[in-house]
Amino acid sequence: MKHRYIFVIGGVMSGVGKGTVSASLGRVLKAKGYAVTAIKMDPYINVDAGTMNPVEHGEVFVTVDGDETDQDIGNYERFLDRDIYKTNYMTTGRVYQTVIQRERNLEYEGRCVEVVPDVPNEIIRRIEAAAEESQADFVLVEVGGTVGEYQNILFLEAARMMRQKDPDGVRTILVSYMPVPPSIGEMKTKPTQYAIRTMMGAGLSTDFVVARSEMQIDQPRRKKLSFTCGIKEDYVIGSPNVPSIYEVPLLFEAQKFGESMLESFGMKSKKRHGLKEWEAMVQRIKEAKEEVKIGVVGKYFSTGDFVLSDVYLSVLEAIKHASWAQGRKPVIKWINSEAYEKDPSLLQEINELDGIVIPGGFGSRGIEGKILAIEYCRKNHIPYLGLCYGMQCAVIEYARNVLGYKKANTTEIEKETPYPVIHLLPGQDQNIEKGSYGGTLRLGAYICELVKGTKTFEAYGEKQVKERHRHRYEYNNAYRKELEGAGLISSGVNPELDLVEIVELKDHPFFVGVQFHPEFQSRPLHPHPLFVAFIKAATQK
Ligand code: GLN
Repeated sequence: MKHRYIFVIGGVMSGVGKGTVSASLGRVLKAKGYAVTAIKMDPYINVDAGTMNPVEHGEVFVTVDGDETDQDIGNYERFLDRDIYKTNYMTTGRVYQTVIQRERNLEYEGRCVEVVPDVPNEIIRRIEAAAEESQADFVLVEVGGTVGEYQNILFLEAARMMRQKDPDGVRTILVSYMPVPPSIGEMKTKPTQYAIRTMMGAGLSTDFVVARSEMQIDQPRRKKLSFTCGIKEDYVIGSPNVPSIYEVPLLFEAQKFGESMLESFGMKSKKRHGLKEWEAMVQRIKEAKEEVKIGVVGKYFSTGDFVLSDVYLSVLEAIKHASWAQGRKPVIKWINSEAYEKDPSLLQEINELDGIVIPGGFGSRGIEGKILAIEYCRKNHIPYLGLCYGMQCAVIEYARNVLGYKKANTTEIEKETPYPVIHLLPGQDQNIEKGSYGGTLRLGAYICELVKGTKTFEAYGEKQVKERHRHRYEYNNAYRKELEGAGLISSGVNPELDLVEIVELKDHPFFVGVQFHPEFQSRPLHPHPLFVAFIKAATQK
């Protein structure tokens, strides 16, 4: 099978949405009848994103097969509506690790192993393996960082080598920011021109330019870019800011980006009107007027004057998908749980919200505030959805305030707690002892059996589900009888390890805590059933 590769490369500055561009073009090509996958190549030495501070990295996205990746993989899954596996994610660290291991295993047969070409060759091997595994006609390959950085030069070299080997099978897209400096009031193309030159310096010409900007690029500037890049005017694609990122595929389609891409490969569309379902979804987003107000109580991460909300990206998206599906406009309020610790009277504000989500988290900062928020939701019948740490905190809250074990805790926070209602998963103590933190959490998809007659069962409408995990601690079965006896229902259990993975309450509009991360499996075209049930309850508040 012939795979075609499209490298998506950033210019000028990062953070302008290369991931959204890749995912959106992927969606458009899929709508034209082709199988599409996407790969992310991150320049850092970390082997995966799992050990990185959220301030540095944003959300850690978890794949079905248990990889801890960049949040862009989440975007690919949401836009392409398919699972993306481990093979589609690489970092410089991961690439070097393999090269060094292969050298140690004498796989290079005694010759000198060099940065070039052995490192780009390993990158190419990985790209081709991902293409094969997913049987994709088109493989979008997003290069992290921007062109001209020392850090990603080997990824660009891999692109150059692939292009040299098969000029007809490789295309490049430069995603570049087009500033409109307020003092000038005009869109400037010069930074993009420099980026194009830098790409040339890496031996790569540009086939397409995606012009990211606050407003749509106009004709004179399209002309200028087409001239300076030596590409057709149609191959300059405007990508202005839009209210929802899910509009981007439609924006691309309107500019015939997909057709131009196919044309550049000498190919044609196999399907017409493939974006119908997507259009209907975007229409629903636009039409949703009545609000549903959801509070996300978390630990907040800031760098200097900026607070980073990226850390909970998939949670946010899942809330949005479920709201739009019900014709509601989601309004999300960020709540710093530490504020509740300092001033519990602030908890009153929860009354003005339709529901509360507590997402995953690690460590002690802000945990007491989360527990206070959960208690408030439980007692005041506010719909509550707890994700991972949010579930563990709900168990602690129940043990403290219903069973009366005031000192109940997770051993993550208090090793010697007299009531360890949340404790380490089997085998995890050795990891901690050895300081072996990378990739050793319970990761990836596991089966969960649901109990008939529970709200969770009703939400899923299935007996058995598979959900993605990322944690080191779990519900302690030693307290199961007592907790259940006091009314904390165990509505989902992992059959292999007999772990309680879902808890819920009976006489409450919606109070569910899950040990896994359902947010990773929510898609705009397929909102997650638990989020749907939660938003339903919230809209009835
Ligand atoms: N810190 C908790 C654990 O490791 C929860 C992790 C999470 O929320 N992802 O079990």
